Amino acid sequence: MESTDSDPEMVVVLCSGLEAPSRRKIRERLESHGAIISQIQANSRYYFVLRGEIAAIETLAVDSWPGVEKVVVVGGQSAHWAIDRSRPVQPIQVGSTLIGPGSFCIIAGPCAVEDEQRTLRIAASVAAAGADLFRGGAYKPRTSPYAFQGLGELALPILESAREETGLGIVTEVLDPREVESISGIADMLQVGSRNMHNYSLLKELGQTSVPVLLKRGFASTTDELLLAAEYILSAGNPNVILCERGIRCGAASRKIVLDLGAVPELHQRTHLPVLVDPSHGSGEAYRVGALARAAVAAGADGVLIEVHDQPEAALSDGRQALTPEQFAELVPVLRQIRALTQPDGELISEEIVSVSGGEDR
Ligand code: PEP
Ligand code: MN
Repeated sequence: MESTDSDPEMVVVLCSGLEAPSRRKIRERLESHGAIISQIQANSRYYFVLRGEIAAIETLAVDSWPGVEKVVVVGGQSAHWAIDRSRPVQPIQVGSTLIGPGSFCIIAGPCAVEDEQRTLRIAASVAAAGADLFRGGAYKPRTSPYAFQGLGELALPILESAREETGLGIVTEVLDPREVESISGIADMLQVGSRNMHNYSLLKELGQTSVPVLLKRGFASTTDELLLAAEYILSAGNPNVILCERGIRCGAASRKIVLDLGAVPELHQRTHLPVLVDPSHGSGEAYRVGALARAAVAAGADGVLIEVHDQPEAALSDGRQALTPEQFAELVPVLRQIRALTQPDGELISEEIVSVSGGEDR
């Protein structure tokens, strides 16, 4: 394939004074992976400039080969799909909601579906408060095998009823590649949780579908690893990936988890994919959720994911971080107002927002 000006180039800097046989060995190895190489010499140092399809070569750790001093990738678009700012930035449709540029999405609901009545009650309350999508786990990835694992398939018809009663699209987690088909039959978006961000069989399976995927960042993962996990889904053919920052382990912090809000502008700069923030798992405590949600919106998140429970002290999972329906209802207009102030996008400068701002001004 002919290379163009927009293709990335890789420059392999060889060690100063490297002899011809060693240079040839490196060159042949690179060429065997399809590289088209131009050689440059300056004093006693040689440089290989590689053009064309360098994605496979980028994974080879060429900088660790004997005789190589360093490797620099310059210019062009990366061959990676997720890490490509030149792709059109388009909102992703989830049910009747758009996630991405020009809209702001609030996803809310309990950590887990516990029973039908409670689930429908919480769904009705978050819908009335202005949530865009309803969340609730059927299959729960719990740290302890003795903790509540979710109702499993019994929860799926309950989630369907929640959609019927509220009109909100459904977000629920999938843990196992074998369950992708049955869960995507009822869900508008499938969540890949923090613990499964590295479950590559699951990511590949989701790549075979067109269902929107909410991909949460592993709690010990870098943003590079998050983008490469997204790459598994995108490169298998599913373009509908939404990223989610949900807090990471940080040795220096007084808390177990620290919400990495700096990841929001970073991911927006590096990828065309929408970026959500989960201040519930990112804080672990209800009293901190509002502050982190407000900060996430100001940092440019395309939406937030908030756990809500009508009786947090009795919740079967994550009750400590759940907002009550009343607390959630108070937070929603504040988040929309911050969004309107920080990223005004036509859709949100509604009468509701104007009246909230107006109320405060007086
Ligand atoms: C959840 O959303 O309930 C959940 C388990 O999240 P995470 O995977 O981010 O821990
Ligand atoms: Mn949870």
